[in-house]
Amino acid sequence: MSQLTEIISHSPSTGEEVGRYPNTSAETIQELISRAKAASCQWSDIGFKGRKVILREWAHYISEHIDELAALSAAETGKPVSDATLEIAIAIDHLSWAARNASKYLRNSHRAPGLLMANMKTHVEYQPLGVVGVIGPWNYPVFTPMGSIAYALAAGNAVVFKPSEYTPGVGHWLGESFNKVAPGANVFFVATGGPETGVALTQSDINKIAFTGSTATGKKIAAMCAEKLTPVLMECGGTDPAIIDRDCDIDRAANAVLWGAMANAGQTCVGIERVYVHEEIADAFTTKIAELASHLVPGKDYGAATMPRQLNVIENHIRDAASKGAEFIIGSADSVQPPYVYPTIMRNVPENSLAVAEETFGPTLTIKSVASMSEAISLANASNYGLAASVWSKRHGKVIASQLHCGMVSVNSVLAFTATPTMPFGGVKQSGYGRIHGPEGLREFAYTRAIVATRFNIPLVFTTFHRKVFVDKFIKKFIQILNR
Ligand code: NAD
Repeated sequence: MSQLTEIISHSPSTGEEVGRYPNTSAETIQELISRAKAASCQWSDIGFKGRKVILREWAHYISEHIDELAALSAAETGKPVSDATLEIAIAIDHLSWAARNASKYLRNSHRAPGLLMANMKTHVEYQPLGVVGVIGPWNYPVFTPMGSIAYALAAGNAVVFKPSEYTPGVGHWLGESFNKVAPGANVFFVATGGPETGVALTQSDINKIAFTGSTATGKKIAAMCAEKLTPVLMECGGTDPAIIDRDCDIDRAANAVLWGAMANAGQTCVGIERVYVHEEIADAFTTKIAELASHLVPGKDYGAATMPRQLNVIENHIRDAASKGAEFIIGSADSVQPPYVYPTIMRNVPENSLAVAEETFGPTLTIKSVASMSEAISLANASNYGLAASVWSKRHGKVIASQLHCGMVSVNSVLAFTATPTMPFGGVKQSGYGRIHGPEGLREFAYTRAIVATRFNIPLVFTTFHRKVFVDKFIKKFIQILNR
């Protein structure tokens, strides 16, 4: 079957058409990459200062037009405009941080040559990769891809961005806005389209793929990248836990955990899906969070499910939990009422049920009481995923955080790492590998070149077929002395 020439985005709340965009073909992808490759040398050559000026102008432009972009994002995702605005504000902060800090973290760094090579001068250079392909999801259509786009551009790469087919308008807007501040730069292209466009980008002559999306798609992309050894960054799903100790501030914990679980209709990769709470405060915590959840109104506090087929997954997880004996604190087996999902909090959900073991991606939460924090930690770590976590404890927060098998932890807060540009973002296990944000995020889009140059000649030459016997003796003795 031939590929459709355009894709249409719809409002998840009303079903109305929001916009039509090209379904970019493999030929066009290749053309964009060639143009980006040609322009990337100049982008690299203008250096950190030149790129900083342009990227900060872009940040300024987006911030001046934040209402326009937030309205478009709200229309395509179904999220409240205020949530879209918050998301864009955080994305702008990342863009600005990457622009200002690339020179600090990617400048040449001098290294000690070591005693054996004391006559050498050694340094490491961080070089742009060339053209980076960014493939993004729909749940945070500005924040998530910007974590790769901004950092890759600041590091001196060109970028071809494939937004989700559910939010092509937001992707298109980002491309147009960049062109307004850097007309003809040809270093940031947006290729709207469906999964086939993502396949074409992955299989192209690209220098790296930065993928954010589901673990299932991530595995397909990693397999395609393996064919050409294309480096790949994987930001995938999670089933993030919140660990609640008996010495926490119960009201603050309940309030924040509820938001972490249900904001954006639960469609947050680092959203909380499981709670492990100390048995001494389990009833108090559960009563409080249930009371707060009872006031949430779908369509006001959070929007419709962006992707209609996700409703089947959410319903399946809730029904599976119900069939395994879950007790509904809030909501019921009928919480899914398209296009909305009503807040659903369950307890006594077995750890092997879908709602605990797999990513639900809806406004649902499971609560399990535990006898100790050791039990909470081992249950949290038993997951196949390892994206983020939240810990609530006045005295033991950091100790608990350091034992969790995941990429990010908020202590006495939720999702705090998302709005902290200096902090690396990414997961372990089935949640992916590689990091966006922070110095690690900048270095993710650069390769290292080690340069070792002779400062002065010494009589001890190792790298010759005419190596003298005394040199061999010297090196043997020297290494023995050093390793006594
Ligand atoms: P998805 O995997 O369905 O799609 C993501 C992107 O991949 C889309 O642009 C899609 O068109 C493209 N795609 C689909 N199949 C492809 C293929 N075979 N080859 C190349 N590209 C392909 O994910 P989604 O539903 O858009 O997003 C939700 C998922 O993203 C959730 O699992 C969520 O946890 C995850 N997510 C992770 C992070 C993170 O930083 N770890 C952030 C946001 C979302």
